[in-house]
Amino acid sequence: MAQTTTGTVSEHDESPPDGVDDAPTVSCRRCGREWSLGYELDELLVGNQAVTQFALDHKRHTGHFPDDVETWRATCEHCPDGVERLSEEAVHRWAETHARHTRHAVAVHHATADETTIVNAE
Ligand SMILES: [Zn+2]
Ligand SMILES: [Zn+2]
Repeated sequence: MAQTTTGTVSEHDESPPDGVDDAPTVSCRRCGREWSLGYELDELLVGNQAVTQFALDHKRHTGHFPDDVETWRATCEHCPDGVERLSEEAVHRWAETHARHTRHAVAVHHATADETTIVNAE
């Protein structure tokens, strides 16, 4: 009711230099680094999607996702094939396509959930 979802926020003062506290941070154990997502928030205006955008960029450039990113995984139970994606839809689509072409059963699993869905060929 009191929620505003459209329109631009009226201009306050310039974003304060110490406003970096608001920016989420992402760390990656594999890289041994930590990043503030101020850039993603300021430049890409992706809001809550900053972490998602960062994770996708990180994956694209390094081949792995950073820590604490909730990803969906599809793992084939018959061959070493599999994918890791941020979108459930993308993972299910991969699983269904893989099952369809190979008749392999594919396990679809979310990082934060215990349950695993098995996708079978029709
Ligand atoms: Zn990394
Ligand atoms: Zn397979």
